[in-house]
Amino acid sequence: MLTKLGIGCSRFGWAAAAVLVACSNNAGSSETGVASNLAPGIADCSAPTALQAQTMVDFVTGIQHAYSYAALSIPEMNAVIEAVHALDASDLNRAAEAAPRAGYRLAPLVAGGACYWVLLPPGFPGAIEQAVVVYAPAWQRNLVLEAPHAHEDHNTDAEAALVFQSVAAKALVVSGSHRCVQGVASSGCRLTAECSHRDPTTGSTPAIPPADSDPAHSIHNALNAVHLAFRTSEAIELQLHTNAHPEINGDSLVSNGTRYAIAGTVADALYTALQSPDVHILSCNDLSAPPPKNAFCGEINTQGLASNGAADTCLGRPTSNGDASQHRFVHLEQSNYRMCRAADVGANPLCLGSFDEWASRVGAAVRVAVPAFR
Ligand SMILES: [Zn+2]
Repeated sequence: MLTKLGIGCSRFGWAAAAVLVACSNNAGSSETGVASNLAPGIADCSAPTALQAQTMVDFVTGIQHAYSYAALSIPEMNAVIEAVHALDASDLNRAAEAAPRAGYRLAPLVAGGACYWVLLPPGFPGAIEQAVVVYAPAWQRNLVLEAPHAHEDHNTDAEAALVFQSVAAKALVVSGSHRCVQGVASSGCRLTAECSHRDPTTGSTPAIPPADSDPAHSIHNALNAVHLAFRTSEAIELQLHTNAHPEINGDSLVSNGTRYAIAGTVADALYTALQSPDVHILSCNDLSAPPPKNAFCGEINTQGLASNGAADTCLGRPTSNGDASQHRFVHLEQSNYRMCRAADVGANPLCLGSFDEWASRVGAAVRVAVPAFR
């Protein structure tokens, strides 16, 4: 029972007390294997109740991000993990049973003519606090696309949707609430400067405790639960970010979530595949051409910590332990100026290209870096 739970167990770096509570709370309650009757149309794309979107980009960019945030409890985290494991096993009954324990529901989605299974958080289709999960039953690449700052890292939600479809990835996870919701408690994880303001006197932007509403810098959120769920599979997890510092991070900075050279990772393969004379592509793991010390390598990213053997996925540090199969996280930083809306290219002198152009470039590189299985 303990090994089936993706969270609350020591391999994910939880405090010992939380381990016992989390694992014992769930033992026996949810994985008895007794299937209920599946509600009609629960993941049947021909059902009249199926969600409909012209394209996956339309679906994802139509998501409303809340300005409020409440963290998930550990049982809710475990429910999301179980729902994801169930989808990945094509066990829709179990997914439909587990999802409501986190306030989620399973629904079919028709987008771009294809059928998907989605886990919809509380509030959807209104403003949501927790992540939306899209699962492609006809996936070809065992790849999960994560957009943890869907609104703030501009156009990464649409980019993630484009790449998800163009490479036939397995799953797409789009964050819920805004990243820096005011008045939300800190996650207590490693300090970041992403939600602080520039001090006009010193000119510096201080690193502060991150808000719990930032799913890449907190633990108790559905995006992290989905990450942990796929972490126990063979899936590659590619997380998309943007930044306004190409002088530090180039047009794109690829990282395995550490600054260690680890042979044979998908991060390295993506770094190689993205190389092109017209763009400046950097890697945190190419010791022959290291990025600046302040480059955004994702070393304090909670999903990166979970995927790189950190003893504590909130406050710990990534390790180089194990081979490439133990480092399946890819943290991709991209310049805002490569990720403009098409209408701004030409109109805004800073814009070097549109996000859809950039998404095709990333998609082409992903097709080379990540093998197709079927
Ligand atoms: Zn980001």
